[in-house]
Amino acid sequence: MTRLGQLTLQRMEVIDVAIVGGGPGGSSCAAFCAAAGLRTLVLEREKFPREKVCGDCINPACWPVLERLGVTEQIRNFPHGALNAVEFIAIDGQRLRVDLPGGAKGEIAIKRSHFDSLLLDRARALGAEVREEATLIALDRTAAKDWKIDIVRETLRARVVVGADGRNSTVARLRNLLPRPERERVALQAHIPLPRDFGNRIVLQFLPEGYSGQAPVNGQELNLCLVGTPPTISSLRAWAEREFDLPPIQPWRTITPLTRDPIPVAHENLFFIGDAARVVEPFTGEGIYYALRSGELAANAIIKILGGEGRKSALRQFARAHRAMYRGRLWINRLARAAVLSPKTASTLLRVAKISPSILRLLTRKIVRPR
Ligand SMILES: Cc1cc2nc3c(=O)[nH]c(=O)nc-3n(C[C@H](O)[C@H](O)[C@H](O)COP(=O)(O)OP(=O)(O)OC[C@H]3O[C@@H](n4cnc5c(N)ncnc54)[C@H](O)[C@@H]3O)c2cc1C
Repeated sequence: MTRLGQLTLQRMEVIDVAIVGGGPGGSSCAAFCAAAGLRTLVLEREKFPREKVCGDCINPACWPVLERLGVTEQIRNFPHGALNAVEFIAIDGQRLRVDLPGGAKGEIAIKRSHFDSLLLDRARALGAEVREEATLIALDRTAAKDWKIDIVRETLRARVVVGADGRNSTVARLRNLLPRPERERVALQAHIPLPRDFGNRIVLQFLPEGYSGQAPVNGQELNLCLVGTPPTISSLRAWAEREFDLPPIQPWRTITPLTRDPIPVAHENLFFIGDAARVVEPFTGEGIYYALRSGELAANAIIKILGGEGRKSALRQFARAHRAMYRGRLWINRLARAAVLSPKTASTLLRVAKISPSILRLLTRKIVRPR
């Protein structure tokens, strides 16, 4: 850096916390940091509202965090699907239905354009500054051990950085922490007209080439997800076009990878939350909960550190709480992954579950439950 560059950097105002990514993880972290009086900045690549490849299902575990964020009422006021059952469909067409706990704290499906915008607006209302269409392109430590953050055409400085920028995290990549992705699978997602009499159910359908998740997001639209491998995804799309009578020009959103190794979440003045920290199998529909809650946990640690409490113990506590969040749950995720990687095995499991439905009920309730 030139001497002039160094001088400019020294004179630059230092923000308390810069959060890269305005998804559920970033917005949650920003809202809690701003509410505690920290000067908080969110850098978001997209212009909201925007859709995102997701099943749009909000696990009941999210409600307590959403309550602490003060947004439950607004969420319920948006169009959404209130989901009362999961129906598993095997390759041979056999069906098995598991009822879900209903009521105000039950599972819902809501378009991410609504959900994510509402959370980002909440962070804004609590005092966070939000920059949309602001893509992180470089991140460096300064001599003062804070961060020099480059977005297109602008440089900023922050004491703490949070990587909340999803599974392909630029923050992690720029810090050489992003694991090599396993490009074994790819997902497609679209909102399509809601078939008549679809009901208030989530459908998880195993197909020879992968699987499909379906959930009504309002009275007119169905969220349709397809998960396959690069060689099989086009035949899955052809299946969906036939099954739901879709035109070939149907627009689809896409994302990869669906799996990658987790990365260490707590570093000196640097945190990772949500998908940036750990990606879970989408089949179980829990990623949004982990994003919201890890955002809250990171905010607690940042508030302590910037408030002058011991950095090391706050980082240790955060890492411990982050691990605890997944404890006793990763085996379900592995089981779900094994099932979706081999739809034939999954269909056999479903046949067994049909004989003894309590097993599948137990597993489903372990995933879809308040925490
Ligand atoms: C097929 C599929 C179905 C799923 N279904 C469900 C479901 O039904 N329920 C559920 O709970 N979870 C589901 N998930 C998982 C869920 O989508 C994620 O876990 C969740 O979105 C993670 O939130 P996040 O805030 O960590 O990241 P994201 O939601 O990915 O948000 C990251 C944000 O960072 C921004 N960003 C990225 N790079 C940059 C950059 N360089 N600079 C600035 N901003 C940047 C992005 O624009 C984005 O807005 C599904 C996932 C898949 C793939």
